[in-house]
Amino acid sequence: MLRGFVWFMERVQTFALNAYFQFLSTSVVIVKVSKKKHQLKCYLCNATATTRDHVPPVGLFPHPRPKNLITVPACESCNQKNSLHDEYFRLIVATSSPNSAASLSLLHQRILPRMKRRPALITSFMKSLQWAEIKSKKGIYLGRAKAFTPDELRIQAVIEKIIRGLYYHHQKRALPSDHFIEKYYRNPDLTEEFWKAISSLPRRDIGENGSVFSYRYAVDEQVDANSFWFLMFFDNSFFISRTWKIDNLVSALPTANEE
Ligand SMILES: [Zn+2]
Repeated sequence: MLRGFVWFMERVQTFALNAYFQFLSTSVVIVKVSKKKHQLKCYLCNATATTRDHVPPVGLFPHPRPKNLITVPACESCNQKNSLHDEYFRLIVATSSPNSAASLSLLHQRILPRMKRRPALITSFMKSLQWAEIKSKKGIYLGRAKAFTPDELRIQAVIEKIIRGLYYHHQKRALPSDHFIEKYYRNPDLTEEFWKAISSLPRRDIGENGSVFSYRYAVDEQVDANSFWFLMFFDNSFFISRTWKIDNLVSALPTANEE
């Protein structure tokens, strides 16, 4: 009787062990398959991601760099895309924030040495300085002066990449291709109500006190690809933009009959 019981228990153990190993081997297969199934896609073009792209561009941060930098999966070509725009953008936001210690360190560490090596950047920057007619508030002509007109297309390209990256980071998916990113507003005059609404959104700092970059955002609960973004660089230059589904925008525009 006892021998029979021992034999039975041994069979149970063997059976259990076999089943266990079989489970292990199938679960290994499952992991492999699921890995393949969930291969990460580029946040911009949906190709297979082979790199991680920094959002915002890592070049904005002087050393020592913060530990909480955001990265998103990207293909190599999208990762490299816009690198000259990124440099232009860095120049614009860092040089327009003279009171920021972070922008001064960046200027000395990266921007000035880089400009010496790449004079083309200075040329591009100088092209932004154009003669403009200056008038008083009452419209009286005061003369001509060099005025700075930033290259808006370059800036827009950088802002779009940042918003798409942050959108991916928070929503865990790429912004659909039928959504577009509105032309940015830089440091616009905002009403008190607008400021209150923006301040009510949680502020997210990258690095200490967000002295290089901080942002706030809101995603529409019903249509989660409609979102609002407030991006602040060096506590000085802020950019506001939104993402919209093209259909929603078209239906929001007044038709001829309604006018
Ligand atoms: Zn890509």
